[in-house]
Amino acid sequence: MTTNLKNNLRDLFPPLLWRRPGKGYHFSPSPLESAGERLPEAINSRRNFIRTTGITALAGLTGIETLFAARRNKPKYSGKGLVLRFLPYDLQLRHTFTLANSSRKNTPDVLTCLEFEGITGYGEASMPPYLGESVESATKFLSTLNLGQFKDPFQMDDIIRYVDSVMPGNCAAKASVDIALHDLVGKMMKQPWYKIWGFDPVDTPNTSFTIGIDTPEVVLQKVAEAAPYKILKVKLGQKTDREMIETIRSVTNVPLCVDVNQGWTDRQMALDMIHWLTENGVVFVEQPMPKSAIDDIAWLTENSPLPIIGDESVQRLPDVIKAKGVYSGINIKLMKCTGMREAHEMLALAKSLDMKVMIGCMTETSCAVSAAAQLAPKADWADLDGNLLISNDPYSGVQVVDGKITLVDQAGIGIHSIKKVF
Ligand code: MG
Repeated sequence: MTTNLKNNLRDLFPPLLWRRPGKGYHFSPSPLESAGERLPEAINSRRNFIRTTGITALAGLTGIETLFAARRNKPKYSGKGLVLRFLPYDLQLRHTFTLANSSRKNTPDVLTCLEFEGITGYGEASMPPYLGESVESATKFLSTLNLGQFKDPFQMDDIIRYVDSVMPGNCAAKASVDIALHDLVGKMMKQPWYKIWGFDPVDTPNTSFTIGIDTPEVVLQKVAEAAPYKILKVKLGQKTDREMIETIRSVTNVPLCVDVNQGWTDRQMALDMIHWLTENGVVFVEQPMPKSAIDDIAWLTENSPLPIIGDESVQRLPDVIKAKGVYSGINIKLMKCTGMREAHEMLALAKSLDMKVMIGCMTETSCAVSAAAQLAPKADWADLDGNLLISNDPYSGVQVVDGKITLVDQAGIGIHSIKKVF
């Protein structure tokens, strides 16, 4: 009782006028600090003060206890802590996906869920092989986590810092926890994250639809499928680059962006190609040269008529600083940067450095794509078509309506299951 009373009084009376009997009023940093063990005196003094200010009704000690116990009350949880579950889920691609240096028909993936007090948040780790993670590495990483130690999901900073500290790398595996945590906390707050961050959903850009490197026949088929999209992202970086663009231009005039995936090695050739692309309605160029060719890319950015965007060069928050002066902008992907929290920080940092921002994705389910889409209102461009490139999406979430990213007013990351996976 005495300790509670002391605490209540400390909360009740921040630095204010405090009256000592017979000594008038004076300022005290804390009534009980100066009162020391003379608690009864302090109480009496406080009672006198209250009487003189005409709010005697609040002076009953029981009333004070009740009033300030309510103020200090925290959510009452059971104390069981967070429960993480995960399972491998192989993403089947609608088309064989060919980039400058690789080709594949599926993408290894691990789905996660984070449970707390009857509420479940969902996450995902998508792991294209070139990123260096695998189902094996992700499940090993997730198995080492002790999330049960966290009894309150709102301690997001502590939880995410812990997950990042367990071992280096494993960015997609870390993102799968981060996304599930955001979904969980958003659901507990009953708000979608774009609202929690204060973004206007009307501001979302159109999303590009990706056309991989392929034969002219297949490229034309993909372009026909992409008819609803207002901008196409064309993969380049092989000898067929001009043929790819000419094939697409033979059937559509929609704006294009190109992703070279580090495929060009000569900067003058790259600049000549960019001038030709400009004449063919291309609006920006992503990762034209190897990420190690920093001086060449900086030269290209300085001389290019189009914005040059860094993707493979920009993984996490510190890379944004390094990209300034080398690229015009950055491509933020949750699987590279460990999730929504760091992506949000990267977005703010890039904008403060006056850099363009693109929100991208891997081939992913609607889970990770909907998570990334929460940031889309503040992006210059969105490349959030990863869920549209797979044939076995177990979730439904963000929609593309008339080519535009369309966020749903649903708590968390805004998804629901269309196929039971957990
Ligand atoms: Mg890229």
